[in-house]
Amino acid sequence: MKTGRRKIVISEFMDESAVDSLRRHFDVHARATLVDEPDRLRDLLADADALIVRNRTQVTAALLDGAPRLSVVGRLGVGLDNIALDACKSRGVQVFPATGANAAAVAEYVIATSLMLLRGAYLSSAAVAEGQWPRTALSKGREAAGGTMAVIGFGGIGQLVARLARGIGMQVVGHDPQIPADAACWQEAGARGMSFDDALRAADVVTIHVPLVDSTHNLIGPTQIKMLKTHAVLINTSRGGVIDESALADALKRGRLGGAALDVFADEPLKAGSPLAGVPNLILTPHIAGLTVQSNERVSTLVASRVTDALLAGE
Ligand code: NAD
Repeated sequence: MKTGRRKIVISEFMDESAVDSLRRHFDVHARATLVDEPDRLRDLLADADALIVRNRTQVTAALLDGAPRLSVVGRLGVGLDNIALDACKSRGVQVFPATGANAAAVAEYVIATSLMLLRGAYLSSAAVAEGQWPRTALSKGREAAGGTMAVIGFGGIGQLVARLARGIGMQVVGHDPQIPADAACWQEAGARGMSFDDALRAADVVTIHVPLVDSTHNLIGPTQIKMLKTHAVLINTSRGGVIDESALADALKRGRLGGAALDVFADEPLKAGSPLAGVPNLILTPHIAGLTVQSNERVSTLVASRVTDALLAGE
C-alpha cells in the first residue's frame, strides 16, 4: 500500500498506543529526545511527510525549508507560539493542534491552585507532624464560594474554568476582546463579560487563558497588579511572557497580592536566580497544567487521527 512509504517524525513524547496506531499506516520515527538533537531532527525531516511536536520543538521557516515534502504538522497541545504559522501557510503545510483535549486538565489545575492559595492552609504537614500546631496562623484562609473569579481569555479553556468555578459557588466575570459582552457563551457558562480593568478590580481569583501574541505580552504588569485586591490570587497557565514576572515577585514579597500560581514562564525551564525564587505564597509548576494520564492519551489520540486523515487524504 502506498501509505506505507509516508514518513512521520515525532520529536517529543507521544503516548505509545497513539504512536502504534500511526505505525499501522506510516513509517514512524519517534524519539522523545529528538527535540534536543537538532542535526538528527534535520536529517530525519529531509524526506518526512509529517512532523509531530509538543511545545519545545521550534517549527521555524528554516526548519520547514529543510523539509520540502512536509505537508502536516501535528501539535500535541494547544498553543501554537512555537510554530511559524505564516511559514507553514505559505508552504501549504497544515497544522493540527489538539484543541480541547487537555482543557479539563488545565481547568482542574486552576481550581486546585485557587483553592490552595485562597485557603493558604494545606502545606502544614511537616509542622503538624513535628508537634507544632499552627492553628491560629492557618485560620485566616478564604473560601472560594461567594468570591469572584475573573477569567481573562474566554476561549475553550477559559469557558471550562468558568463552569467549574460556578460549580464551587463562585461568581464568574471575564474579559475577551473577541467576545462581546452580550455573546451567548458568557451566559451559557454562567459568567459576565466586562472590561479588562473592571474584571481585575472585581476578582478574588484572576486566571489567564490567552494566547501569547504581541498584544498579550506583559498583559499583567505593575499597573494591572495595582488594580487587584490585596488578597487576590493570580493563576497563569497560558504562556510565560503574559505576566511580568519581576512585578509579580515584587508584589508578593510586599504582600500586595494574596498569592499566585505559575505553570508557564517567559523562559522555560526557569533559570536559577530567577526573581521568582524564594517568593512567598507562590506555587511554581513546570508547564504541567495540561498534562495528566488522561489528557496525554486524549491529546495523542486526537493528533494521531488528524495527522492520519490528512496524510491519507493527500494520497
Ligand atoms: P483559545 O484560542 O480557545 O482561547 C484564547 C482566547 O483568548 C480567545 O477567545 C481570544 O479571543 C482570547 N484573547 C486574546 N487576546 C486577549 C486579551 N488581550 N485579553 C483577553 N482575551 C484575549 O485557547 P485555549 O485553548 O483556551 O488556550 C488558552 C491558553 O492556554 C493558550 O495560551 C495555550 O497555549 C495555553 N495552554 C496551556 C497549557 C498548559 O499546560 N499550561 C495547556 C493548554 C493550553
